[in-house]
Amino acid sequence: MMTQNTMKRFISGPEVRASDLRQWYYCPRLIYWRYTFRAPWRPGRITKLDEKHDPSWVGRLKAFSGCEVERNVCLRSKTLNLVGCMDALLMCGDELIPLEMKRGTIRDGHDVQLCAYAMLIEENFEVKVTRGYLYYPGEKLEEVPMDNALRKKVLRTLDLIRRILEEGMMPEPTKDKWKCRVCDHYTYCGGV
Ligand code: SF4
Repeated sequence: MMTQNTMKRFISGPEVRASDLRQWYYCPRLIYWRYTFRAPWRPGRITKLDEKHDPSWVGRLKAFSGCEVERNVCLRSKTLNLVGCMDALLMCGDELIPLEMKRGTIRDGHDVQLCAYAMLIEENFEVKVTRGYLYYPGEKLEEVPMDNALRKKVLRTLDLIRRILEEGMMPEPTKDKWKCRVCDHYTYCGGV
């Protein structure tokens, strides 16, 4: 349940992107560099997928042969002050399902980002979303239940992001120093 203070933070700050939730799990300090310091940002550098530029990639997902597929669907939530563009929205009968394609071994926050898309779908289309999919090309297609625990995680992470924005404080660096080696902000952050 959202407190009044949390709600105020949600609606008074700048719009947060669903991808920011995943970034927060990579390193919370990325949020500081992006929004407070306004550092140059190259979206998708870490997660860029060649397959995303191949229009047939969803067609290769045989599990969804009976569904209609809309690619690159962008939605906005006034309630959460959140925007997001999912890789695909699957329309299977009456059911709407978000799908996000990912790669790499760092999977923290992928499920949280996916659930944020589910919540965007629910607010925009007034439907209940019960599952989503994470697609790791050449590896696996993972069904993720959109349960209450995951939804709470989305709200909690949004609140933590908004605190960084509101207080302008620089979070501690990630403890996983190897992440800093591929970070866009290493030059001025240094990971310390
Ligand atoms: S350099 Fe390291 S600590 Fe700094 S923002 Fe990047 S990942 Fe985080």
